[in-house]
Amino acid sequence: MKLARFSVAGGDIHVGRVDGDEIVDLTEGAGVGTSLKALLPALDELRPRLESADGPRHPITEVVLAAPVDEPQKYLAIGMNYAKHAEEALQAGIPTPKNQLWFNKQVSCIVGPFDDIVKPAVSDQLDYEIELGVVIGTRCRHVAAADARAVIAGYLVANDVSVRDWLMARSPTFTLGKSFDTHGPLGPWLTTDDEVADPHALGMRLTVNGELRQSAATDDMIYDIYQQIAELSTVMTLMPGDIIATGTPSGIGAPTGRFLRPGDVVRAEIDGLGAIENTVRSENER
Ligand code: MN
Repeated sequence: MKLARFSVAGGDIHVGRVDGDEIVDLTEGAGVGTSLKALLPALDELRPRLESADGPRHPITEVVLAAPVDEPQKYLAIGMNYAKHAEEALQAGIPTPKNQLWFNKQVSCIVGPFDDIVKPAVSDQLDYEIELGVVIGTRCRHVAAADARAVIAGYLVANDVSVRDWLMARSPTFTLGKSFDTHGPLGPWLTTDDEVADPHALGMRLTVNGELRQSAATDDMIYDIYQQIAELSTVMTLMPGDIIATGTPSGIGAPTGRFLRPGDVVRAEIDGLGAIENTVRSENER
């Protein structure tokens, strides 16, 4: 099942189910409220109702999609978690970490799947990173890797947009360079875990203005999704709606200096999850 948050003609954001080329309004048709995050802990019990409910239908082309999770508490991301990407980073002088390397994207950076990415006036090193995004469904702590799949609600496409000079030199904890407003596009919807046979066997592609820049599969992860959940939940309670970006493959702009510029169109697609597409605009434009 694919669950989205959407609005029509400037109206309120509702929860919907993607059905082919249409979105079925579940807020109207199933009485589930307007928070997708609130549905996640009870997804298994709600599933029959969410899958079968009818309601007002809208062509997807006529709605505005919002980020699938409303107000997530956390957005965590792992660095250098694809073998080929770790190689390209090493060539740029960044050593391969000996353990999982985690950083925060502040949740205020999150935008919808087709919203603009703003190039900040303070940097010319705006970069892209396609990533498989994992959404937590169950509040949890101390989850063993073997049990981790059970706490996953589903998956989405993430672009971990990065401002390289800020995250490398100016503020090396990564927090600032990863957290500019609009630098967290997510979507296009949440694909629930039951619909994904193996999250470690998904092809992913990112293009800039139609030119292929990143192409890989999630089987190249160094630490798999379940090891990531085990590591994070060793430290903190994970909450329904928390977002985990599971690493980007090789092909980012930094090693070649091909950074994003205003007018560029960045498209990120993952097998079975759909595509997000964001246009870069200058901070000084409206
Ligand atoms: Mn990343």
